[in-house]
Amino acid sequence: MQHSATARATAALRPSAEKFSIEDAMSLYGMDSWGAGYFRISEEGHLEVSPDGDEARKVNVPEVVENLRKRGLTPPLLLRFPQLLESQVRNLCSAFRRAIAEYGYSAQYRPVFPIKVNQQRAVVSELLEAGWKYGLGLEAGSKPELLAALALETPPESLLICNGFKDNTYLAMASVAKRIGKNVFVVVEKPYELEALAQLAFAKGARPSIGFRVRLHARGSGKWEKSGGHTSKFGLSTGQLLEGIAFLKKNKMLDSLKMFHFHIGSQITEIRRLKNAFKEAARIYAKARKMGVDVEFLNVGGGLGIDYDGSKTSSDASVNYSMQEYANDVVYTIKDVCENENVPEPHIVSESGRAMVAYHSLLIVDVRAEIGGGDGVKVKPGQRDPQVVSELLDILKTISAKNYREFYHDALEHRDEMVSLFNLGLLSLEERAKGEAAFWEIAAKAVRYSRSQKFMADEFVELEKQLVEKVVCNFSVFQSIPDHWALDQLFPVVPIQRLREKPDHRVTLVDITCDSDGEIDKFVDLKDIKEALELHRLNSGEPYYLALLLVGAYQDTMGDLHNLFGSANEAHVVVDEEGHVHLKRTRRGNSVRETLAAFGYDPKDLAAKLQATLEEQMKKGGLTPAEARQLLSEYRGQFDAYTYLT
Ligand code: PLP
Repeated sequence: MQHSATARATAALRPSAEKFSIEDAMSLYGMDSWGAGYFRISEEGHLEVSPDGDEARKVNVPEVVENLRKRGLTPPLLLRFPQLLESQVRNLCSAFRRAIAEYGYSAQYRPVFPIKVNQQRAVVSELLEAGWKYGLGLEAGSKPELLAALALETPPESLLICNGFKDNTYLAMASVAKRIGKNVFVVVEKPYELEALAQLAFAKGARPSIGFRVRLHARGSGKWEKSGGHTSKFGLSTGQLLEGIAFLKKNKMLDSLKMFHFHIGSQITEIRRLKNAFKEAARIYAKARKMGVDVEFLNVGGGLGIDYDGSKTSSDASVNYSMQEYANDVVYTIKDVCENENVPEPHIVSESGRAMVAYHSLLIVDVRAEIGGGDGVKVKPGQRDPQVVSELLDILKTISAKNYREFYHDALEHRDEMVSLFNLGLLSLEERAKGEAAFWEIAAKAVRYSRSQKFMADEFVELEKQLVEKVVCNFSVFQSIPDHWALDQLFPVVPIQRLREKPDHRVTLVDITCDSDGEIDKFVDLKDIKEALELHRLNSGEPYYLALLLVGAYQDTMGDLHNLFGSANEAHVVVDEEGHVHLKRTRRGNSVRETLAAFGYDPKDLAAKLQATLEEQMKKGGLTPAEARQLLSEYRGQFDAYTYLT
């Protein structure tokens, strides 16, 4: 049964009196572990973001939400922090600069952002601006991405890498890039692309440089493990690589082969797997160099992971290495192999998308209602309860720490018997409701008793999950965190207010789609995966917001329009030197009109159809002209509304 927030809150208007410090909250939600120094809690218990890690410049998230709400931008609300992009690009490039200095590496590090990780124009532009001084380039994985990359202003010496499956028009666009002065590399994924490249008649100086994507024996680890290894869908096998070199030689194009590239998957959780890949790729590079192929760049792809749960382990939501360790291992391994083989060190390219953008955005959702675990109805014995119901009531009265297991099993039997009697027409709805309510109270007591034992039996662990309460949140999992739905990826979730109050409520989150998969029932934890999140009870009349964090990589574009819920309202948040917060690039999320149009519904046509039906009703006398006009105007007015609850 669903309780309205207000009704439930009346019974639960009791802010916890227990002391709860900022440190308690930081540790409960793991913020000090996964936050990388960007997220804090203010004295008044508000979530704060320090986009450059400096405590003096911070953004009070509830204040920003309130400010945007006043401007009509209500949750779900995507907040982007461009300065966080800057911090991450700086961190990555500094890590490589330090590694290059430490190992005396003689070539350069050339960063590249793979557009697919977040194609939003504003994000890519802000990233390029932040990465200008580091010569940040772009990687495109498709023709549309290449068209976008072609038109963006990039630092003069930066690289433009063309990955993905290509046809002649894609290759022709790469040639356009070359002609307008871009440092463009076509990375050959499949042998037929090489033939197409050779057949295309490029004007003088318009042939792009060529890269080979090599298929390594080394595999990644984590959810994207399949991107590497012999069975991977991408890249050239050793035999194909040699044939490719021979082909280029025969066609007098070998001097165009300038890059070797590999990518063994995103979010590689174990550093050992990455090291193996660096070693193998460096050896391939060195052997090819010795064959007289003047490859200048070794592109180590993506894979640098983010510690979403803060555990610093090789679990799927974490990584067992730091960014610096990653950079050190890339540089050291390549140098070591090159010294061993006595070949020049290549420039190192990395396509680290997730590491650059994951932190930069968070989604604010409002909690709309609490749904009790079990059934949440209190029961009282009556005088004429049927036997099966009074037996359940009796168990409820007498269940104790000594008998809870046996009594719970009895209750299960009585519940089955009660449903059979109901199906035979021998019980009323009221009697069934009473029996069900008694059963859930027994279940709750049994879980409490079993919790107090040394070991909790599996059946009570499962029962406890069924009893966890849910809160309804105004967003769509499918639109805003699709990887949670598709891959069980974990994202940190934190209330943005009341963080100085101990949360006394364990819940899972359900979204507003009509889909049972639209739920978050797994949460980050240092030692485990939590089955429920600690939240506060709603206070009557007070909004309660949650932040879903670290959603800046992949989620923006993978999201879909399930139930026709569209993109969220959005704002870019910047904090200046004096600590003043500025809201920029505010953007309304999709309107109903837009999500309908995406599936072939023309709002004009829809309104015309409704008008015709209203006229028919008027003719039949079911509506007055004024009523019909009013209904039509209300209907039309909704096309420009936000797709979410407002
Ligand atoms: N490069 C290529 C070829 C990719 O396919 C990907 C994504 O899977 C990336 C780079 C980005 O990887 P990450 O986001 O792990 O850095």
